[in-house]
Amino acid sequence: MERTTQPATPLVGLMQDDHPLTVASILRRARGINGHRTVSTFHGNGLTRTTYAEIGNRIDRLAAALDSLGVRPGDRVATLLWNRQEHLEAYLGVPSMGAVLHTLNLRLFPDQLRYIIRHARDRVMIVDDTLVPLLKPFVDDIADVVEHFIVVGDGPVDGLPNTVHRYDGLLDDADSGTYAFPEITDDRSAAALCYTSGTTGNPKGVLYSHRSTVLHAIAECMADAFGIAGSDTVLPVVPMFHANAWGLPYSASLVGANQVLPGRFLQAEPLARLIEQERVTVAAGVPTIWMDLLRYADEHEPDLSSLRIVPCGGAAVPRVLQEGFEHRHGVRVVQAWGMTETSPLGAVAHPPHDVAGEEAWAYRTRAGQISPLLDARIVDVDGSALPWDGESTGELEIRGPWIAAGYYEDPSGADKFRDGWLRTGDVVSIDRRGFMRITDRAKDVIKSGGEWISSVELENELMAHPSVREAAVIAKPDERWTERPLPCVVLDQGAEEIGPNELAAFLSGRVARWWEPDEYAFIPEIPKTSVGKFDKKALRALLVDGQLDAARRQVA
Ligand code: ADP
Repeated sequence: MERTTQPATPLVGLMQDDHPLTVASILRRARGINGHRTVSTFHGNGLTRTTYAEIGNRIDRLAAALDSLGVRPGDRVATLLWNRQEHLEAYLGVPSMGAVLHTLNLRLFPDQLRYIIRHARDRVMIVDDTLVPLLKPFVDDIADVVEHFIVVGDGPVDGLPNTVHRYDGLLDDADSGTYAFPEITDDRSAAALCYTSGTTGNPKGVLYSHRSTVLHAIAECMADAFGIAGSDTVLPVVPMFHANAWGLPYSASLVGANQVLPGRFLQAEPLARLIEQERVTVAAGVPTIWMDLLRYADEHEPDLSSLRIVPCGGAAVPRVLQEGFEHRHGVRVVQAWGMTETSPLGAVAHPPHDVAGEEAWAYRTRAGQISPLLDARIVDVDGSALPWDGESTGELEIRGPWIAAGYYEDPSGADKFRDGWLRTGDVVSIDRRGFMRITDRAKDVIKSGGEWISSVELENELMAHPSVREAAVIAKPDERWTERPLPCVVLDQGAEEIGPNELAAFLSGRVARWWEPDEYAFIPEIPKTSVGKFDKKALRALLVDGQLDAARRQVA
């Protein structure tokens, strides 16, 4: 029988596809059926503990207060806060009003902060009293933009222009029943704004939507990501101004996990104590934080047994770090990859189910497996796509429902986007199982004799040396090879006898012969970026200015 070919008209599904995915729905569930779960903030000498139900009540009053100050849907409300309860209230409350939460990175230079606040046109700023002095250098330049400052804490507020309010006073005066939250019918509307740290040019704003925020939160809770569950106690060490603390406040609120917020106490000792006392099960942060904590744990043996998973990323996670925690403290450190533009979770490095031993380590030391619902491709310099063979190396491009489509009111960043893909600037290979290996950021690669040397891999190998505390490898100009690697090394205290020859002998056989550096710079400290990563731009500047000269020592 002959078949008639119908024109291809897809049948429209009969589901409630217009039901919006909103931060307001995360808040509703948290304060409702998970209302008894707790949020604790560390203040140095103790914790204040509250519940999602109480946070919900306070958000009602915060919203009424912000409304009375004139905040309307679409307006930006900035935060200059450490990880603390009030920050979580803003995280959940401001987007639920239809306004936009703008997290300010308190470690940026005054010029960058001034630029960002003016560019975002923040109408209101919620600021920690201890951080008020940060605003001093430029506060007059933002007076025409920021109409209200809301200060958390009762410290001095001298020098703030315009209307200054105290956070708690504002909440005390507000009536919890007066504000009617708007219905957010279009979940593509903006929920939060976060600027990249701007290693090149001005910082660029990534404007997350309600939909992207919710989908990202769900993705983070998946078992093959961090598996965050209602029974967890989550400690975001990563600051809430760094890519939304990697989305953890939203994921934890979504499932009703307890949250422990460390305030400004990000040193190893208070973190170890918090983990021990609060029986934290998930603690996330950049490698530099965990390197410090590992050293502390080796010396003081705190009880870290409650930790189920330590998501670690933002920079390559050295194997010594993962092994140290696992073998000596029974703690599993899981590497993840992401960027502000990717909400940030884009890949997680759980090894596949059918590998073990050394092979599993080969997966765990990669940046991760591309997350579900995201598409990735590797692109050559001429724009052609490269195979996922684990060998071919090019720039990673990525797309998906929680990946930025453009920067907020900044055409100068348009070249980061092409045909619906985000160009990450990371140089990677991907294997057939979707695991990425990052060889470098495009701007950090070392071109030697027409080939690339991976600074990331050299750093990892060097940091495996028991006396090397930190290693960051930059390119130095070379007449013959164009560039050669220059490792800048920080030795452990008491390891001064280690010189370039010991490190050269250590690397021999671990990396390709032509990668082996011919000199090393021994420095007391590696400069860090505003989010705690090795600042190679600063190192390169030191090299150009000759400030590393005295520290450089040739391999014999
Ligand atoms: P910044 O540009 O200030 O570092 P981001 O936090 O957005 O801001 O950084 C994103 C970048 O961090 C990525 O493009 C990548 O280069 C690096 N990165 C993140 N995770 C990893 C990882 N697991 N391994 C190596 N690099 C990583």
